[in-house]
Amino acid sequence: AFRPGDTDAEAVERRLANLGAASVLFYREPIEMVSAEGAWMTAKDGTRYLDFYNNVPSVGHSHPRVVEAVSRQIAQLNTNTRYIVSVVDDYLEALKAHMPDSLSNVVMTCSGSEANDLAMRVAMAATGGTGFIVTETAYHGNTALVTEASPSALKRGSLPETVIAIPPPSVQHSGEDIAGGFRRSVEMALAEFARRGITPAALMADSIFSSDGIFADPPGFLSEAVDAIRAAGALFIADEVQPGFGRTGDAFWGFGRHGITPDMVTMGKPMGNGFPMAGMAVRPDHLEQFCADVGYFNTFGGNPVAAAAGKAVLDVIRDEGLQENARDTGALLLEGLRDVARADARVADVRGAGLFIGVDLAEEETGRPDPDLTVKVIDGMRSRGVLIGAAGRYGATLKVRPPLCLKREEAEQFVEAFKGALS
Ligand code: PMP
Repeated sequence: AFRPGDTDAEAVERRLANLGAASVLFYREPIEMVSAEGAWMTAKDGTRYLDFYNNVPSVGHSHPRVVEAVSRQIAQLNTNTRYIVSVVDDYLEALKAHMPDSLSNVVMTCSGSEANDLAMRVAMAATGGTGFIVTETAYHGNTALVTEASPSALKRGSLPETVIAIPPPSVQHSGEDIAGGFRRSVEMALAEFARRGITPAALMADSIFSSDGIFADPPGFLSEAVDAIRAAGALFIADEVQPGFGRTGDAFWGFGRHGITPDMVTMGKPMGNGFPMAGMAVRPDHLEQFCADVGYFNTFGGNPVAAAAGKAVLDVIRDEGLQENARDTGALLLEGLRDVARADARVADVRGAGLFIGVDLAEEETGRPDPDLTVKVIDGMRSRGVLIGAAGRYGATLKVRPPLCLKREEAEQFVEAFKGALS
């Protein structure tokens, strides 16, 4: 993260003067970007960067079909969401073709935060509960309600008594029985809610546990925890903002790898390839219950231009075989990174699904997570023309997340840059 004083670049000062304390910039010496295409971004000084910190323009930067769809629609009609415009229903039907049949209503929003905020409120209305179980380094968004359920967003203070954070489903926390270990964590949280006199509303989880450090295997491990939450009368909200839209390769959604049907699915980031759009898929009976009390209106959510962007994204994923590419190129990348791990004890673990891979960096002697090395590697990759970020409780897991159109040689280039940065 950028800290004031690290650089005196004029552009950075200007940004800080404009955005103040809420300014979030990547790198101590932030990069001024001017354009992007495919997996590549170009800075003002002409440097080209291979973008592995990419989960928004996920079908490729400035994809011509998305650009064309958005341009055409905005030239023709864009308005609030109170009219029938066929592109919107065309989009929703195309999106729902990827959803479990039971989730046949989709509420469109502008951000993942709004989608999760709504999902939490629907869960409360449907269950009469107020308790939420999340994972310990989760991030679900920025509204008042969702921030309270996002442990990684809290810099000070503690979670409210209606939110319990449990460890992510990992070997470290659960041993070999990851499914059983995660279910037990959920059951312990439910017992704690009972002790507090709080009725549970939902387990809300990012189905690839991005902020927690990326935990994908074994596929299916989520189902025991989902059974446990339902046995307590509460719901399962799958936050697909990160893993959704084909990224994990095996399935279109992260929850698909686990063979489960969530009660609600929230989605965002890659949905419009950079055009701001998000949404929540839900059972009609749950939505009716919620809307009977307060209703829901979103001026921009699911406007015609968003629908056009979203439809182009779905078409590109299908026509260019991007889910399959995520699976195949992801497997190559995983293998390449595992080769590095075999040769260097500081690369403690490599895991993931499709084009969503976590790489743990650790101290060679003690095996402890090494956030300092991680920062050095991130900076070293940058100087080798590769953009990459970190996640996890210790900030010592590289979050490997390139666009889904990644080419084999780009994956190889990443592995070479990683080796170089480590050396
Ligand atoms: N859920 C997850 C898993 C996220 O990673 C994010 C954003 N980082 C959000 C929700 C919130 O989405 P947005 O920033 O679009 O509000």
